[in-house]
Amino acid sequence: MISHVAPLFIAATSGVVSVAILGSLLRAGIPGLTRWLSANLLAAGALIFLAFQGHMPGGMCLAITTAVLIYAVLLVLQGCRQFFGLRPFHYAELAAYVVLLACVVQWTTITPNANIRIMLVSPFLAYARLSFAWIVWHYRPQHRPRYAYNFVFWTALVEAAIHAARGLAFGLGWEHQTAAVISPTPTNDIFAAMVVLATPCLSVGIVMLAHDRMAERMERLATVDELTGALARRAFFVLAQQRFDAALRDRTVLSVAILDLDRFKTFNDEHGHATGDAVLKTFAGVAIRALGRDDLFGRLGGEEFAIVFRATSQADAAQWLDKLRGAVAASPVTVPDGERVCTFSAGVSELQRDDTLARLMARADAAQYAAKAMGRNRVVIAADTAGSGSALNAV
Ligand code: GH3
Ligand code: MG
Ligand code: MG
Repeated sequence: MISHVAPLFIAATSGVVSVAILGSLLRAGIPGLTRWLSANLLAAGALIFLAFQGHMPGGMCLAITTAVLIYAVLLVLQGCRQFFGLRPFHYAELAAYVVLLACVVQWTTITPNANIRIMLVSPFLAYARLSFAWIVWHYRPQHRPRYAYNFVFWTALVEAAIHAARGLAFGLGWEHQTAAVISPTPTNDIFAAMVVLATPCLSVGIVMLAHDRMAERMERLATVDELTGALARRAFFVLAQQRFDAALRDRTVLSVAILDLDRFKTFNDEHGHATGDAVLKTFAGVAIRALGRDDLFGRLGGEEFAIVFRATSQADAAQWLDKLRGAVAASPVTVPDGERVCTFSAGVSELQRDDTLARLMARADAAQYAAKAMGRNRVVIAADTAGSGSALNAV
């Protein structure tokens, strides 16, 4: 008795622990978490219920437990879809579940036959786990550490294989049990033990996914400016220094530009702060879409931005910035009395031998100030690359 009840309690305890951990993450509002939590709660309850089935009427109790466990597996799959931004609910699955329920009741209570019941239930469970594995594999974010996603993928895949093998074993008659409640046999014990071990693993994996999503959010908050989508100041300087060091070491060309929106304050003063925000967002959106993947775009503060152009001379960078001026001019922002465009002034400078990032940026900044002094809405190259920033050419 103990040997068969103990694994159920172990799995149920792991379910309860998962509920506690997932519950602590609920406030983070991670998609799919509520479904995963409900699934663990249902599964833990069903397993405890099953552990006591020796003391209760067999057939109906087993039918209820099976129905709840299948629904928990379905909820886990739905939670997975929701987690990856997919539509969680599929009517075909619900229909299949209802049909399966009828079959479970039929072959558990009316004409008890474990072979037929398991032959029908196992493929459904294998499908749910296989779908879970496929979704994790297909939609796992490329920029995140692989560990949690690989763990969950393999666990779900192994579980799918166990269910498929169990369905085959019972379907092909290798295991033959016609009573409602399965009597313990070595084969059946192995299947039960594997399922009982794999389920907590998947719960742990799900907690790992939720944690990774939270870590991703926090990293994003620290590195990306929420309003504009540009790199936040600190992250920009860290990455810019890396690019700068690499270019100095490899003796490759690199340019830096400082961009400042022209008379931006008037947007705030005339149309309100929200319109000012919309201007910043529109400008940054145009720049981000236009930039190459290898370039860095950061918000230094307020309406001041910086770009690090990889493998680009200052002349080429200035030409690109001039094109950006055109693209920004073609992207007006709606204000109460029509549409308005915001221009920008930019200064650009190129990496020199024995340079520092601070000196390079200071030259670009001086060129940007010169662009303002020359009447705004223009790009200026810091011609004096030795560092004084005194001689400047307007593009
Ligand atoms: P110039 O052409 O000389 O650069 O003039 P400017 O008006 O663009 O520059 P100024 O430095 O006088 O004004 C910048 C304004 O940007 C002041 C500040 O209130 C506003 N600002 C800074 N950050 C934000 C923000 O996140 N949202 C909004 N709406 N305004 C901001
Ligand atoms: Mg400005
Ligand atoms: Mg400014």
